[in-house]
Amino acid sequence: MNGTVVVGAGIAGLTAALMAREAGCKVTVVSLGFGGLQLSAGTLDVLGVPEPLAEMPALDASHPYAKITPEALSAGVEAFTRYVPMEGSLASTTLLPTALGALRPTSFYPPSFAAGRIENGASYLIVGFTGLKDFYPRLAAENLASQGVDARAETVELTAPGDTSLPFSRMLDQPGAAEGLGERLAHIARPGERIGIPAVARSGVWEAIQRTAGHPVFQIPIAPPSIPGLEANELLREACAGNRVDIMLNGRAIGLRTEEDPLGLRSAGGGLPEDVRTPDGATSDSALPAGTRASDGRRITGVEVRIAGSVKTVDADHVIYAGGGLDSGAIVFDSYGNLADTAFGLPVFAPEGELVHGDVWGPPQPLFAAGLRVDADMRPVDGRGAPLYTNLYAVGGMLGGAQRHREKSGEGIALGSAAQAVCAIERTL
Ligand SMILES: Cc1cc2nc3c(=O)[nH]c(=O)nc-3n(C[C@H](O)[C@H](O)[C@H](O)COP(=O)(O)OP(=O)(O)OC[C@H]3O[C@@H](n4cnc5c(N)ncnc54)[C@H](O)[C@@H]3O)c2cc1C
Repeated sequence: MNGTVVVGAGIAGLTAALMAREAGCKVTVVSLGFGGLQLSAGTLDVLGVPEPLAEMPALDASHPYAKITPEALSAGVEAFTRYVPMEGSLASTTLLPTALGALRPTSFYPPSFAAGRIENGASYLIVGFTGLKDFYPRLAAENLASQGVDARAETVELTAPGDTSLPFSRMLDQPGAAEGLGERLAHIARPGERIGIPAVARSGVWEAIQRTAGHPVFQIPIAPPSIPGLEANELLREACAGNRVDIMLNGRAIGLRTEEDPLGLRSAGGGLPEDVRTPDGATSDSALPAGTRASDGRRITGVEVRIAGSVKTVDADHVIYAGGGLDSGAIVFDSYGNLADTAFGLPVFAPEGELVHGDVWGPPQPLFAAGLRVDADMRPVDGRGAPLYTNLYAVGGMLGGAQRHREKSGEGIALGSAAQAVCAIERTL
């Protein structure tokens, strides 16, 4: 058995790798580096509406959630939170304060964010540190207050060898530093107040601050690098190491080795998608777009990887493509209006019409919904819906049809599609 090759080490790739390992597969992750999780707020956004599960059926048929089942979504979230502890629910979102005092809906969040839930009757003290940039407690508290939240601000004198989250995190890791901060917070907080601080503490340090403060203390996400996001990334990485997932870093997947599918599966449409972007920006089913290759339901036997100056082929029974899409550069959009998948030349689908408009504060940019289309097993398909390869699965940011940043759906899509792909692989074992 050659096992499963996962391309990409973001939230989708690492979670898929762990789930495939749990399913009994030998797993190799091939990746240029780690993904966007370490830059994220550390929360899991499933869909930024009050009741995500109830509202998913109303999404467009081209949306990834039209393919991802609620069971797969739930399995993906469970797999992730086995390694990265989170609170929250799929049924309803929770409002948490941002660094600017806006109210942001999310589905799951680290325990160190929990006391920040906006709840009736609660009072919030937002505390800034003199030496930390990009966090303005008074602005945050005033914005919260303008939305009816009982909030006020304080600043404590606290510095670190640098003015961003990482030096503050290291400083708070020093013996006694967390307790020292907790004591000062206790001093300025009024009875019953929950204390919000910028998210610079690792979970153990946050626990020590809260214990010493004698008040509920919560962290508020700040500009990257985000300590809770970094911590989540580390936990997944450690889980991969502990579960004997091989990770090949600095490896770029550049192609596929294939053979005729022994089961004879063919793409019904001959691999010529109807609305794939062609070099002149038009849609066509008479020519392959630049960079895409015809395939007709062939079977993949290996992934070609450029690593350390040479090309190596990693044998594979199954390939999960978790390259991140446009955000990570796995899909590119050039100045001529062409969209291309840089690893395997798969057809990239995009909405009709102009992909980028000039109204930056207006409707979402259609370009951001560009990506691969998949079948119910998460296998990339051609324009007629037939799988391009029998054993290739695409997950996470590779999937088109979603406005992730705007909808707040990125992590939910990543975890749900990862679980659904692994489930499809499991059925073939
Ligand atoms: C600035 C920003 C803000 C965002 N804000 C939100 C938000 O508020 N809410 C929300 O829901 N979503 C948000 N998103 C989207 C969300 O982060 C993504 O949907 C999610 O990270 C996708 O995870 P992923 O694992 O699919 O991809 P990524 O985390 O991007 O990982 C992709 C991985 O693939 C690797 N890779 C790429 N190409 C290759 C190759 N050829 N060979 C080998 N490895 C390769 C990369 O190195 C990386 O490890 C935001 C994204 C960005 C960029």
